[in-house]
Amino acid sequence: MKTIKAHNKKFELFIEASEISRMVDNIAEKLNHDLKGEEVIFLGILDGTFIFAADLIRKIEFDCQVTFVKMSSYKGTLTTGSVETLIGIGTGLEGKTIVIIEDIVDTGLTLERILKLVRDQKPAKILTVALLFKPDACIRDIRIDYLGREIPNEFVIGYGLDCDGFGRNLADIYKITGA
Ligand code: 5GP
Repeated sequence: MKTIKAHNKKFELFIEASEISRMVDNIAEKLNHDLKGEEVIFLGILDGTFIFAADLIRKIEFDCQVTFVKMSSYKGTLTTGSVETLIGIGTGLEGKTIVIIEDIVDTGLTLERILKLVRDQKPAKILTVALLFKPDACIRDIRIDYLGREIPNEFVIGYGLDCDGFGRNLADIYKITGA
């Protein structure tokens, strides 16, 4: 098993880039099918989603807008339980189809907070996309409309996901070994 060190912690290979690519293709195919003809704004949640959003959006075949919001709930490998908005949502979402792009849904607090902020802007429809979901960690009743895959409640890095800023550049996704 391939292992790496990032920010002094040991991680092992978990999801290879080829599988991630299939997950992204699968989500894009569904979005292209379901949302054609709608006025769509993709709303990526920074920082973790920057690679996933970039890959996904380049596979979208209809005219769309893209924007980002920056939230933070993680410090190192632990969630802080409170979600801060660091760069807010602009205006102009009214009457549009908003597709929120999240890298990973853990407790669900970030997505819950974003959903509230987006709802306040009175869009016509809100949809959620997540590459990864940890059902055993989720404490909110969150609907993910387009999901890559579920994972166990373990800390992962790579493909945009970080450990204190490190590991975002890894093409594959790695999980912490605890060793
Ligand atoms: P939630 O608010 O659902 O608990 O967490 C959402 C955010 O926490 C994600 O957007 C991501 O930035 C971060 N996060 C949650 N789980 C992980 C994980 O396993 N690894 C990393 N690197 N970040 C995570």
